[in-house]
Amino acid sequence: MSETKTRKIPAPAITAETEAFWKGAAEGRFQLRRCTQCHETHWYPRAICPFCMGDTAWEDASGEGTIYSWTVMRRAPEPYAMAYVTLDAGPTMLADLVDVDLDGIAIGQRVKLVWSQSAGGPPVPSFTSA
Ligand SMILES: [Zn+2]
Repeated sequence: MSETKTRKIPAPAITAETEAFWKGAAEGRFQLRRCTQCHETHWYPRAICPFCMGDTAWEDASGEGTIYSWTVMRRAPEPYAMAYVTLDAGPTMLADLVDVDLDGIAIGQRVKLVWSQSAGGPPVPSFTSA
């Protein structure tokens, strides 16, 4: 079994649209934007709904989801895994998988959100086995 190591995750670019997300992240809150008209959630956070151009509002989300697809970066100095995770709340997001068995990752695997420290920035969403 080969465990993931903690790699240096670059600090995220913070924009006016994502500033509140990163403030919440610093407090351990995972928030998504939901459309006030069609009620869909999306990732990454946007002020205008990507589905219907409606207004959107923040809401707290659980961060639980399922692996849609994944890859292991074995040629990196410290091998690590990344996955597209489809959240129970709806959207699919790309993030690191941490503290997982690199040989035991599977499509459909249940995962939950954890926060990883970024290099000089706020904590960033990552996932680990649920
Ligand atoms: Zn909408």
